[in-house]
Amino acid sequence: MSIVLADSHAHLDMPEFAPDQAAVVARATEAGVALIINVGIGLENSSQVLATARKFPGVFATVGVHPHGVKALTDGDLEALSTLARDPKVVAVGEIGLDFYRRRSPEEVQRQWFRRQLEWASGLGQPVVIHTRNATAATLEILRDHKRRLHGGVMHCFGGSYEEARAFLDLGLHLSFSGTLTYPAAGPLREVAKKIPLDRVLVETDAPYLPPQPWRGKRNEPAYVAATARLLAELNHLSFEEVARLTFQNTLTAFDLDVGAQFMAPETARPHTENRKRKTGNTS
Ligand SMILES: [Zn+2]
Ligand SMILES: [Zn+2]
Repeated sequence: MSIVLADSHAHLDMPEFAPDQAAVVARATEAGVALIINVGIGLENSSQVLATARKFPGVFATVGVHPHGVKALTDGDLEALSTLARDPKVVAVGEIGLDFYRRRSPEEVQRQWFRRQLEWASGLGQPVVIHTRNATAATLEILRDHKRRLHGGVMHCFGGSYEEARAFLDLGLHLSFSGTLTYPAAGPLREVAKKIPLDRVLVETDAPYLPPQPWRGKRNEPAYVAATARLLAELNHLSFEEVARLTFQNTLTAFDLDVGAQFMAPETARPHTENRKRKTGNTS
């Protein structure tokens, strides 16, 4: 049985990948990573993220503005992002949310734009990719206000308690574990990971950030998502193949992707320029 993995959250258009992006995608493919969600963080970055998604058959894009960048966001930017969002390779709005740890944008501005971008996603009928740091209560409060208008989504790089996990699951969201699950200090998180229903769990790298333990201090890349999936399998007394299969399927579900969509296989690892119709119900 061959391994098929999904990296539910990577940033292939960060400058760290500029010298060798195609090689990074090819290495992911060789490692069995057939699907990569390439996540946008701002207007300019989102258009690069989409261009990259159009180059590779198994790479899909999200467009949106990270809480760090919202202080400079305008209505015009949101319109420009809406144009990008019409592309069939765009599968979600994100990453959006609240980051009260670094506070690169004022808290109130972050709250406003989180709400605006959630509304925008609802209008598009798209799921959302959510970033939250030191802001769980405020994130939950805003998400609860939008609960009826959410089209699902992913709480990315989940690192909270079981109660917090439960609260996000109750909103219909999926939870994604990153390489932080493998860190020695992440004992409490590993306990949480044992209790999350396995039909709601995704794995991600957040590459180039947060490499799993064996690569700490180095640049992370989508091929390394296998380390997180392997640990998740151990924690749940399942085979690596089973967890790979489950998390791949959950990624398709979370992003409303068609199982018939074309993903990466070693023979298709070379860049494609054609744009195929993939997502069910979101293309015309
Ligand atoms: Zn994030
Ligand atoms: Zn990210």
